[in-house]
Amino acid sequence: MQELTHWIDGKHVKGTSGRFADVFNPATGEVQARVPLATKAELDAAVDSAAAAQVKWGATNPQRRARVMMKFVDLLNRDMNKLAEALSREHGKTIPDAKGDIQRGLEVIEFCIGAPHLLKGEFTDSAGPGIDMYSMRQPLGVVAGITPFNFPAMIPLWKMGPALACGNAMILKPSERDPSVPLMLAELLQEAGLPDGVLQVINGDKESVDAILDSEVIQAIGFVGSTPVAQYIYGRGCANGKRVQCFGGAKNHMIIMPDADMDQAADALVGAGYGAAGERCMAVSVAVPVGDQTADKLIEKLVPRIEKLKVGPYTAGNDVDYGPVVTAQAKERILSLVESGVQQGATLVVDGRNFNLQGYEEGFFVGPHLFDHVTTDMDIYRQEIFGPVLSTVRAKSYEEALGYAMDHEYGNGTAIFTRDGDTARDFANRVNVGMIGINVPIPVPLAYHTFGGWKKSAFGDLNQHGPDAFRFYTRTKTITSRWPSGIKEGGEFNFKAME
Ligand code: NAD
Repeated sequence: MQELTHWIDGKHVKGTSGRFADVFNPATGEVQARVPLATKAELDAAVDSAAAAQVKWGATNPQRRARVMMKFVDLLNRDMNKLAEALSREHGKTIPDAKGDIQRGLEVIEFCIGAPHLLKGEFTDSAGPGIDMYSMRQPLGVVAGITPFNFPAMIPLWKMGPALACGNAMILKPSERDPSVPLMLAELLQEAGLPDGVLQVINGDKESVDAILDSEVIQAIGFVGSTPVAQYIYGRGCANGKRVQCFGGAKNHMIIMPDADMDQAADALVGAGYGAAGERCMAVSVAVPVGDQTADKLIEKLVPRIEKLKVGPYTAGNDVDYGPVVTAQAKERILSLVESGVQQGATLVVDGRNFNLQGYEEGFFVGPHLFDHVTTDMDIYRQEIFGPVLSTVRAKSYEEALGYAMDHEYGNGTAIFTRDGDTARDFANRVNVGMIGINVPIPVPLAYHTFGGWKKSAFGDLNQHGPDAFRFYTRTKTITSRWPSGIKEGGEFNFKAME
């Protein structure tokens, strides 16, 4: 069986802890590799070496650093197929989805090519007699990225791109469920010209995360994952004096007004609810039709579309809509939540519980589920399911529908489908959620905007990528300077004044 490594000082390095996690092929259920889980000592050694490498990298001019990013973009495009194959094999998502995962990360690297412009400071000429004032953005030193399983290319790229372009060294601790792609990204960055030691990929679990949290060298942590872990990392990281931003879970509502284009809404819900098996933080997991007529029409349109979904392994080609979920435990948890929905009185309109894929009986496939008449006290409504399960909560009015999105503890993304500009505008202004779609189901902002939720979907002040990332990964220093002037009013130089 393949034994994966860490990436330290530009080399693959075997783990020494003796502890490993299994890495599955979710389509077959087989263990295809094992990944080492680092100890605190291994983490600390990698951090020290990153700190040494950062000194020169931080002093390298921003344009040279940007050129590394430029070359990195070319290499990501060159190896797109290879990366997508490795990603799908460990994660389970389809090849087009895997390419989307890489592409959305690559676009942030493209944005980082603008580092010289983004890192420019501000300047005030003659703030007082002979006084100038200017500010500069300096790297923090060594920073860490801790990333989840569901976007094993995109989120590591969102972390490394801005952190490295700003002149930091980064310790990346990817998910132990699908660690191969982050290691491949590290190899590509080396080929693009990144000096050894500036990016270290340390595989591990809670032990290495705790070592990151307690490290005296690491200055900042960018985390993405589930909310309980986000809260833990935010609390302990901040208590240790670090700059921390943590992005957590979601329960994204899509409101369907009576005047919406119902076919468009149904198509959008199927893509956003079941794509990537629902394992997206921007997946729509709650549909809120306004009025019973709207709800009945929507369900009528949804059912045949959902029943047509093709679930299968990534190797089965382009007509597969979604693949398996990531682990047997994830599958078990999703099915037990579905069971709780039935027990608590929701109507299971599309029942995927007995889904079985011939030839892949050991794979972690979950059939699509659709619930109607879901209420806010049910577990399927309150919890993030992170599977192919869509819940319908019927609202009597727009205000009631808006209230559902507002009152839920998560606030990552939300959408409204309507033909009425006034309603759409009101929704965008009032809803307490970070990313809003208007007739767009998964409103993921592009690289030059920023990405982040509200409420329990994010902890910390700044968002991911876009200009916020350059603020997060730098410190501002402001300099006030005064030079004694030797120029007299008439323009004659006064050498005496300079003595
Ligand atoms: P997770 O919280 O289980 O793991 C995330 C990272 O934290 C991994 O690197 C993991 O090794 C580490 N970790 C796990 N348990 C830990 C613990 N007890 N102590 C310290 N570290 C720990 O999340 P996941 O299952 O990999 O990812 C899915 C979650 O991520 C979902 O909740 C999803 O909504 C969320 N997510 C959020 C965003 C966003 O931008 N808001 C984006 C993608 C995913």
